[in-house]
Amino acid sequence: MSPDLLADLNDEQRAAVTHGDGPQLVLAGAGSGKTRVITYRVAWLVRARGVDPGAIVAVTFTNKAAGEMRDRVERLLATWPLPTFVGTFHRYALKLLRRYGDRLELPRDFAILDGEDQRSILTRAMADEGVPEASFPPRSLAAAISTAKNQLIGPERYAAEAHGYYPERVARVFRRYQALCRQAAGIDFDDMLVLAVRLLVEHPEIGDRLRRGVEHLLVDEFQDTNHAQLRLVAELAAPSGNLTAVGDEDQGIYRWRGADLANILDFEGHFPGATVRKLERNYRSTSTILDAANAVVAHNRLRRGKRLWTDAGRGERIALYRAADDQDEARWVAESVGRLRARFALADLAVLVRTNAQTRAFEDEFFRAGIPYSLVGGVRFYERAEIKDLIAYLRVLRNPRDDFSLLRILNQPPRGIGKTTVAQLVERAAAAGGVVWDALELGPLDSFPPRARTALTAFRDLVRDLRRAASELPLPALLDELLARTGYAGLFRREDDEDLGRLENIQEFLSAAQEFTEARAFGGDDEDLLTAFLDHVALVTDLDRWDGERGLSLMTLHSAKGLEFSGVFLPGLEEGLLPHFNAHGRPEDVEEERRLFYVGMTRARERLHLSTARRRRIAGRYQDQLASPLLAEVPEELLEITESPTLYRDERARAIDQYFGRGRAAEAPEPEPAGRRPKRGARVRHPTLGPGVILELEGEGDDTKITIFFDRAGKKKLIARYAALELV
Ligand code: ATP
Ligand code: MG
Repeated sequence: MSPDLLADLNDEQRAAVTHGDGPQLVLAGAGSGKTRVITYRVAWLVRARGVDPGAIVAVTFTNKAAGEMRDRVERLLATWPLPTFVGTFHRYALKLLRRYGDRLELPRDFAILDGEDQRSILTRAMADEGVPEASFPPRSLAAAISTAKNQLIGPERYAAEAHGYYPERVARVFRRYQALCRQAAGIDFDDMLVLAVRLLVEHPEIGDRLRRGVEHLLVDEFQDTNHAQLRLVAELAAPSGNLTAVGDEDQGIYRWRGADLANILDFEGHFPGATVRKLERNYRSTSTILDAANAVVAHNRLRRGKRLWTDAGRGERIALYRAADDQDEARWVAESVGRLRARFALADLAVLVRTNAQTRAFEDEFFRAGIPYSLVGGVRFYERAEIKDLIAYLRVLRNPRDDFSLLRILNQPPRGIGKTTVAQLVERAAAAGGVVWDALELGPLDSFPPRARTALTAFRDLVRDLRRAASELPLPALLDELLARTGYAGLFRREDDEDLGRLENIQEFLSAAQEFTEARAFGGDDEDLLTAFLDHVALVTDLDRWDGERGLSLMTLHSAKGLEFSGVFLPGLEEGLLPHFNAHGRPEDVEEERRLFYVGMTRARERLHLSTARRRRIAGRYQDQLASPLLAEVPEELLEITESPTLYRDERARAIDQYFGRGRAAEAPEPEPAGRRPKRGARVRHPTLGPGVILELEGEGDDTKITIFFDRAGKKKLIARYAALELV
């Protein structure tokens, strides 16, 4: 046995690492060394106890956490042989299925169905069973099926237990869905665990072999296990009972995926005779950060309860910034990052957000400020498929001869232009030595079959119309028009979580365009706005290729579990974001949001920055925001609060917004008195079109359509909201 290994541990950690046979649970708060216990125990088993590394299985939840665990184990084992498995639950299950799947009549080369595949199979299953989407939202059906699978309930049992109109139909769709998956030789994510459990339970000879092969099983983040995972663990650990589970009930954040806190809260019930250990010393954070996190999570009822202490010292107070709006918040974060850079490496800083759409404001701001960043576990905002589609549209509107973009949107959303038609079009363009748009524009399209011809003509007219709109409308209005005319947003369903995320991204793209337009209104550059916006987008996207130091991490709270950073930013602490709308009214869900907040805070070693915005743009329009009630649970003496200097100016300017263009009024140093509304005959000035006179007003407030005769640009119709007009 190597003494240096155990010297790195405190007494409780050492007891857990050197635990003899039988199950044990290490239940402890954030940063107390739970993951350290797992990695050291693996190393200790191999180095001190001579356990065959091939007989050790260590599992956790995310790929990132698994990667980190593997690195730590490798470092501790140095030249010793490594365990055969350190990875995620799903990867382990998949490994079993690839080896023994034939026992479950799985084809050798079965595919793993992604979200997209699953959705289309579900839609077909519903159609086959005559279950209408109107009264059975596919999203709740998918959730019902997933929940059943996580409970290890198959279609037969589901059907047997289903009584009543709704459940009986769900049961039919479930059965059909499973059959269609099989037909497609595919399994979904939930199936992986279900099938692995079935393999162990229904095939004793394989079960025995596998169980004998696993002498020691170690599980990190046990609080996030669902029923299927619990069964898998129980089955594998059965005869020896050599299970080491570590977890923290205050960090359970996967309830929405069927995780069950009861698994950890009632560990001794599931694994009789288990030793339960606690670790109470936190090695990660300052006492200020720890006290704040403890105070917040103490409001939860569903917990065993524990206190953490540290001798790391008080450290600095937690910064709380009250921002005027989301842009102001991003600016503050970038400024603070600039200051922290003097003390910490960028890679040691993280911005953690609740929803994916929130990353956009930061990506733009970091670009402006020259701060390299990496988006962990996600796709950069401007590289998400729906955003790339919209960018492709804009590029085509600027220049329809952009073949690459044109081909991307030609049949997106689907408008009856099939693969053959596209191929013919491309061929024809090539033969004429031109681009696809020429083939469309110059025609003739007579040689296409009537349906394709109609579709192509309609597309050509659409692009022509939108190009005309592009020359008349400001960018945000153009995007509205584009969405309306193409029906693009109709591709996504409100009943589907992933689709909702896409719709939020589209709204966020509208906000970006609005923001950019307003900023340019003061810039005075007279390069065309659409081109400038597309250039901006292209440059932000290119940030990835920057050389030099590794960037700061930008990621969701969910993917930050288990990680640690010297400085952490938690923006968007507002009602509706954290706690998220989805949690509304349900106490268990609010508790989960509180755990997310706890997870976020406890990622920080030294500096924690919180922020909340007074208003936030949703789809380009400002919405008032309320500070998160969770924020009130942080003891005030731990906070250092600063306010945006423009917080109140914006309040005043807001009243004016209804009459004049939004950002224009908000930024004006001396706002116009609210009494003056634009009238017919009034002289106005537009930031890019210059001076003119109002000819006509239609409608009310923000949506007023204003026809103006500009001295230079001639007659134009604008929408008040976007026009940023100034009365002269
Ligand atoms: P989380 O709940 O966030 O997953 P955790 O309980 O798994 O946290 P670890 O990540 O294992 O905690 O440890 C937190 C930090 O404290 C790490 O940087 C780790 O190296 C350090 N640490 C843990 N135990 C000790 C120790 N005995 N001596 C020195 N440092 C320690
Ligand atoms: Mg951990």
